[in-house]
Amino acid sequence: MMNTGTGLLGLLGDPVAHSVSPAMHNAAIDRLGLDYVYLAFRVTPAGLAGALNGVRALGIRGVNLTIPHKTAALGLLDEVDEAARRVGAVNTVVNDAGRLTGYNTDIAGFLAALKKHGFAPAGQKAVVLGAGGAARAVVFALRDAGAEVVIANRSIEKADTLAADTGATAVSTTETELQKALDGAGLLVNATPVGLFPDTGVTPVPGSLLHPGLTVFDTIYRPRRTRLLTEAEAAGCRVIDGLDMLVEQGATAFELWTGQSPDRAVMLRSAAAAMS
Ligand code: NAP
Repeated sequence: MMNTGTGLLGLLGDPVAHSVSPAMHNAAIDRLGLDYVYLAFRVTPAGLAGALNGVRALGIRGVNLTIPHKTAALGLLDEVDEAARRVGAVNTVVNDAGRLTGYNTDIAGFLAALKKHGFAPAGQKAVVLGAGGAARAVVFALRDAGAEVVIANRSIEKADTLAADTGATAVSTTETELQKALDGAGLLVNATPVGLFPDTGVTPVPGSLLHPGLTVFDTIYRPRRTRLLTEAEAAGCRVIDGLDMLVEQGATAFELWTGQSPDRAVMLRSAAAAMS
C-alpha cells in the first residue's frame, strides 16, 4: 500500500510508452515487499535538466535514463562514475540527499548475461556489430574482461573512434571483412537495431558466416528470437537474447537504489509478460 513514506523510482525517456522497466521493477519491489514504486516519465530533451532537478526536489531515490538522454545527462549530474564516463553514457542515476550520481549498468548487465549462459570472455576473440551507446558499453566490458575485440560498424569513423578508445580493432561491414573478423571468433554481439521490431526480416550478418562453436548474443529483446538468433541456432551456435541483459542492467540499478538484490527470475518473467 502506497503512503507518505513510499520511495519513488522511475524512468526518464522519450518514448517510454512501451517500456517494460516499470513492470520489471515493480515486480521485483513486490517480491521483496519493499515500499517503493517505479513509474515511467516521458521527458523530452529540452525537459531533461528540469526533470533531473525535479528528481532532486521531490527526493526521488533514483531513475533510469533511456533514449534520448543517456549522453546528455553526463553534463547535468553532480558526479559520474568512472565506467560511465569512459563509455560516455549514463543509464542509471542515484539520488543521495539531492546529490545525483550517474552509472552505466549496461556494462555489468552485459557481463552478467554472458556469465549466466556460461561464456567467459577472457582470451576470446569477440566481434561486435555497432559503435553506438550499447556497443560502447559492450566493447568496454569485453576489453576489461580480457577479450580481443573487433568492431564492425556501418560508419567506419565511429568504429575507429571506439577502437582507439578501447584498444580494439575496427573493420567495415562488408561480407569479406565480416568473414575475416569471424574467423577464430568465439563471440558475436549485435549491438545495432538491425532486426528490431517491426523490421524483423533483416539480419546484420549473413547466416552463412556463422559457425558452430560461436556464441551469438543479440542485444535486441523485441523480439527475443531475432532472425540473427534463428539463423545462429540453425548453424549450431549457442544463442543469447537481449532480455537477460535488460534484466541484469535493471537488477544492478535496483541494487544501487535499494541496497537489495532483486529476484532476477521474477524480473525476467514480468518483462517477458509485459512484452507480449
Ligand atoms: P545507437 O547509439 O543509436 O547506435 C546504433 C548503432 O547501430 C550505430 O553504430 C549505427 O551505425 C548502427 N546502425 C543503426 N542502424 C543500422 C542499419 N540499418 N544498418 C547497420 N547499422 C546500423 O543505439 P544504441 O543505444 O546503441 O542501441 C542499439 C541497440 O541495442 C538497440 O536496438 C537496443 O535494442 C539494444 N540495446 C539493448 C539493451 C539491453 O539491455 N538488452 C540495452 C541497450 C541497447 P552508424 O554509426 O553507422 O549510425
